[in-house]
Amino acid sequence: MSSRRSAVDAPARRAVEARARAVVDYALVRRAALADLAAGRTSTHEACDAQAYLLRAARYHGEPAGEICPVCQHGSLVHVSYTFGDCFRADVNGRARAPRELVELADQHPEFNVYLVEVCAECRWNHLLASYVLGTGEPAKKRARS
Ligand SMILES: [Zn+2]
Repeated sequence: MSSRRSAVDAPARRAVEARARAVVDYALVRRAALADLAAGRTSTHEACDAQAYLLRAARYHGEPAGEICPVCQHGSLVHVSYTFGDCFRADVNGRARAPRELVELADQHPEFNVYLVEVCAECRWNHLLASYVLGTGEPAKKRARS
């Protein structure tokens, strides 16, 4: 069901943005982290610490960010969306999802959290960009979990 495509799925991304609730933007935190890095208050070793799991998620589920990495200026910056919620089975909770999958899940589940992370596969820079809530907003029904 989840084909591995690396092109930006703009319609799905717009659909996700239209449904996102309780959005928290971490742009200021990110900017501060980059300023600390530029000023030498943190090292690239500390800031660019993407683990193997995150790098793998970036490779298979990442969407091109459409901008260069703010640290190494390489063009391989991608966005990864992690999903967490009581509605998910334990083995898929915390899974990275493509925007198209997020839209499908938003139609199927009452509520879950999404964490949008940017990752550079080149220098391993990674930072939380935003978090938000998706879902139908209806009370949880007794139904098969997916
Ligand atoms: Zn980089």
